[in-house]
Amino acid sequence: MRYALISDIHGNLEALEAVLEALLREKVDGYVCIGDIVGYGADPKACIRLVQGLGCDCEIAGNHEWGVLGLLDLDYFNEYAKEAILWTRTVLNEEELGYLRSFRLVLKTGRLTLVHGSLEAPQEFHYIFTSEDAYYTMKLLKTALCFVGHSHVTGIFSFDKGFASIASGNKIKIDHGGKYVVNIGSVGQPRDRDPRASFAIYDDVKDVVELRRVDYPIQKAQKKILDAGLPVWLAERISQGR
Ligand code: ZN
Repeated sequence: MRYALISDIHGNLEALEAVLEALLREKVDGYVCIGDIVGYGADPKACIRLVQGLGCDCEIAGNHEWGVLGLLDLDYFNEYAKEAILWTRTVLNEEELGYLRSFRLVLKTGRLTLVHGSLEAPQEFHYIFTSEDAYYTMKLLKTALCFVGHSHVTGIFSFDKGFASIASGNKIKIDHGGKYVVNIGSVGQPRDRDPRASFAIYDDVKDVVELRRVDYPIQKAQKKILDAGLPVWLAERISQGR
């Protein structure tokens, strides 16, 4: 099967539409969403509707879902994120909140483990930026592959007998016996200085993981953020990729 993996959409409809359009050409068999559909962006409702329509094999909860649902203290978030969460609460209806409430923190399925932040205390939403961060998750990993999001920075961390290395490039072949932690980056608010929307494809027959980027109409998403009265920085940062 070929799986499409998306994360950290953050209410950015233009970015999500561009990713889904790119994925149509990829002939994927299933979709996986690993959290933060909402928060920051101006289109949480439309993004929820689109993700719901994908019939994902599973949805994983991100810190922004938990923030909106009141399951995570708002002190966890910076001021911009907090403001966006409070705004998001005012626009979502009971049915949409119920959908977000159905998300789980961790899923282990076949050769895959999925979590938004990291495997140590998933409910605390720790970040994986470095191979040291990834190491703690690798130690707890019972499958060959773990996909994460949350940092909005892509990275492929591979472990051979506990030794870490960071894969260069955007593609990796899964070796038997190895363990891999893959950060798939963010659809709607990349922070690795590349503003293009990020997503991943995993082919479990060829055993290959690939990170992809796609352009989208950023200015349109920025205008919606400003029109909604959300913080100006949330519009600025998406064109800067940070
Ligand atoms: Zn996020």
